Amino acid sequence: MTRNKPGPKMKPKTIEKILSRTRQESECRIWLGAMHVQGYGMTRHKGKMRTVHSVVAELKYGIEAPGRYSGKRVTRTCNNIACVNPDHITIVRAGSINEGKNYVRGRFSADEIRAIRKEYDSYKVKYGMVKYLAEKYNCSVPLMSSITRRQIYKRVKDET
Ligand SMILES: [Zn+2]
Repeated sequence: MTRNKPGPKMKPKTIEKILSRTRQESECRIWLGAMHVQGYGMTRHKGKMRTVHSVVAELKYGIEAPGRYSGKRVTRTCNNIACVNPDHITIVRAGSINEGKNYVRGRFSADEIRAIRKEYDSYKVKYGMVKYLAEKYNCSVPLMSSITRRQIYKRVKDET
């Protein structure tokens, strides 16, 4: 199929090219292109609209970005939703700490639960954030909603 042949309009995206559309903000590189309503960067990649951080992960690791149920997820080590710094973007195994045990209900470690709640609580505008976190942590929206509302994982106490 000629469709998949890289033509002049389908130059392969590189990390350098992505970073050329960012501005530096301390250690982070903030995306200046299109933004999703929830705050993360969006770009066209291989003919599809994608989150920029998933494209960066794909280029950085040289693999297709993990899908929702692949058991892996793209995550950021900083708290900047629009950051696309490859040094801040990693792929981790979902639920790696509770591996094998209660995959759906017990898939998150206590540290992950604390991190999720801390991130959620830090948002001034909560609208859309449960969905965003569900995508980030590769779980369903109802599950994420129960986590942020502290209806499950009740034994995980917030850090004081
Ligand atoms: Zn960052």
